[in-house]
Amino acid sequence: MALAHNLGFPRIGGDRELKKAQEAFWKGELDEAGLRAVGRKLRAEHWQIQKDAGIDLLPVGDFAWYDQVLTHSLTFGVIPERFRGHGNAKPTLQTLFGMARGVSDSCCGGAHAQEMTKWFDTNYHYLVPEFSADQQFVLSWEQLFEEVAEAQALGHNVKPVLIGPLTYLWLGKAKGGEFDKLDLLEHLLPLYGEILQRLDAQGVEWVQIDEPILVLDLPQDWKNAFERAYNLLQKEPLKKLVATYFGGLEDNLGLAAGLPVDGLHIDLVRAPEQYPTILDRVPGYKVLSLGLVNGRNVWRCDLEKALDVLRHAHERLGDRLWVAPSCSLLHSPVDLAREDKLDAELKSWLAFAVQKCEEVAALSRALTEPESPEVLEALAVSQAVQASGAESPRIHKPAVQARVAALKPEDDKRPAPFAARIEKQRAELYLPAFPTTTIGSFPQTSAIRLARQAFKAGKLSEAEYTEAMHSEIRHAVEVQERLGLDVLVHGEAERNDMVEYFAEQLDGYAFTRFGWVQSYGSRCVKPAVIFGDLSRPNAMTVEWIRYAQGLTSKWMKGMLTGPVTMLMWSFPREDVSREVQARQLALAIRDEVLDLEATGIRIVQIDEAAFREGLPLRKAGWQAYLDWATEAFRLTASGVKDETQIHTHMCYSEFNDVIESIAAMDADVITIETSRSDMELLDAFEAFAYPNEIGPGVYDIHSPRVPGKDEIINLLRKAAQRVSAERLWVNPDCGLKTRAWPETEAALVNMVAAANELRAEFA
Ligand code: GLN
Ligand code: ZN
Repeated sequence: MALAHNLGFPRIGGDRELKKAQEAFWKGELDEAGLRAVGRKLRAEHWQIQKDAGIDLLPVGDFAWYDQVLTHSLTFGVIPERFRGHGNAKPTLQTLFGMARGVSDSCCGGAHAQEMTKWFDTNYHYLVPEFSADQQFVLSWEQLFEEVAEAQALGHNVKPVLIGPLTYLWLGKAKGGEFDKLDLLEHLLPLYGEILQRLDAQGVEWVQIDEPILVLDLPQDWKNAFERAYNLLQKEPLKKLVATYFGGLEDNLGLAAGLPVDGLHIDLVRAPEQYPTILDRVPGYKVLSLGLVNGRNVWRCDLEKALDVLRHAHERLGDRLWVAPSCSLLHSPVDLAREDKLDAELKSWLAFAVQKCEEVAALSRALTEPESPEVLEALAVSQAVQASGAESPRIHKPAVQARVAALKPEDDKRPAPFAARIEKQRAELYLPAFPTTTIGSFPQTSAIRLARQAFKAGKLSEAEYTEAMHSEIRHAVEVQERLGLDVLVHGEAERNDMVEYFAEQLDGYAFTRFGWVQSYGSRCVKPAVIFGDLSRPNAMTVEWIRYAQGLTSKWMKGMLTGPVTMLMWSFPREDVSREVQARQLALAIRDEVLDLEATGIRIVQIDEAAFREGLPLRKAGWQAYLDWATEAFRLTASGVKDETQIHTHMCYSEFNDVIESIAAMDADVITIETSRSDMELLDAFEAFAYPNEIGPGVYDIHSPRVPGKDEIINLLRKAAQRVSAERLWVNPDCGLKTRAWPETEAALVNMVAAANELRAEFA
């Protein structure tokens, strides 16, 4: 047989039970026993679901109260000083949540939360471990052992999941003085030994050790460390399956295949091309686990296609072949069965975590019982799904494809270079030096959210809803005029989310009701699903922006989300490339840009918040991505006249390594985040001689703190040392939707005052 196993199951619950329980606990509405009971119930349900689906070996350790990397930090005693109680008492759930969310109520001024960052190229965020030079590793948290016992008591065959020592160290940060975190490995390994021995004593046979950094470009000393580490761990008990995912092993293939462990898992969804080489290189004693069901997307697996590979592998490997999803199902929504609003055809194309487990089990059974009715049924269904998708007129739109095919090289270029455009724009817009603006959204008050909900529920008529939004726009315009901003925005009150708002108005997008995926902690997102060729049947924002422009004699900035961000924050299609989907999105949004221009709007901002996060994990893939991503942006922006000013916005400024592509986007103005780095990140724009205009964010909108006028002036002076003053804009570093009005007004008053002073200074 080929064993069916799973690398991890979503922990949030089909109804986001974990989120709700966590938040109730934080508010003091649920006690610790209540919270723990919710966790226990979810784990039990999830194991049972996987077992019922036909999974032979169930993951344990995929559950986490906040984040699995944080659980490891607690397990290893990697708890920064500021979270340790007096006398180094054992950590508690309070310690864990404190590390995740910060502590504000302690006697001694509180402690800031650990930094959070993206888990590889997913939208999941983990808490970055903090290492000190003299870091001790002490087994400090019993959760894994308790959960193993819990699963065993329920009669399950389990495989604990650990993040491997190299990946764990790689994900962390050396704090307090320069040292090489790899030097900590020698101290960390004995703890892995201790954990393996404990698990052995619990009667565990296999452990899964995740080492996804094996799909990255690794420095040589890290590669060497892999051999050293696993040679040492070889002496410890348990059969070890090293799991890699999110990409191909490439230059690390020999290293991974040769590690002295009992099994290797590879991702054949993201990197199918590695299969033949791995098959040749994996030693005869080793289990090879093939990840053939996509753990990162919502589409049904093409079982026949996967079986072609499996049958071949089975001949060579026999019982040493295992079948699995490509990666943990943490990145999939939980259960498709709950979707009651999707039409039957669309639903038949999808698979969430529960269904993916069934697919894995079906693949495994198809090898040993190819004639069983269940297997034949599963294959027939899969075949029918593939056939209906291949032919569906809902997916394939000749008009959209023809438009993309007819694109000419000049379509993604502005007719005149920036230097010529900016002259015309300055003459037409007639803005002062250091023009002031904001990034788009104003506070999303509960009144706004209630109006939107009431409208969706049919309790507010369209006319009433429009009037409610108009009243928000009037308020936003009144405030901006009173404060003296130069380029105004309408405030985005009508938008639930910067992607979903547009997706809902495009053809080719579908929406689930329960397709939640954990983003971080208790925060979940429900990405829209791109299922077909994308087009824009009607104008999306024109009426709102026209209304707003009609209220003021200042310039009103049109506000759109760019094609790359639309794509990155959606579940994409698998039957066409991301590049093609980006181009289709670009054309749809380009039409909107042109409609805004035709209605008299002179400045249009196209947000690309997710531009940088689309970068491939391996450097070798960067240029190809940057080429199509910048092209998609330019395609969106290039239809307008020279006089129309295109802005873009990105919520960060780590552009050192991609500054040429940022320049190649050729936006007339780019607004970015720089306040937290004290404008130092602007160095990239100076070193590269970035030619266009820049609005370096002058204050951090993530905090309610109101920046002082002098602080803003200071930042702008620093910016002016790096970018010539006549190219600088003055703006916050992101949209203001999470802020309240009082602090927003107070901050903008100071921002405008700072700009005024600088005008005098630089005049
Ligand atoms: N225009 C958007 C806003 O202001 C941009 C949000 C973002 O960059 N994440 O809300
Ligand atoms: Zn932003």
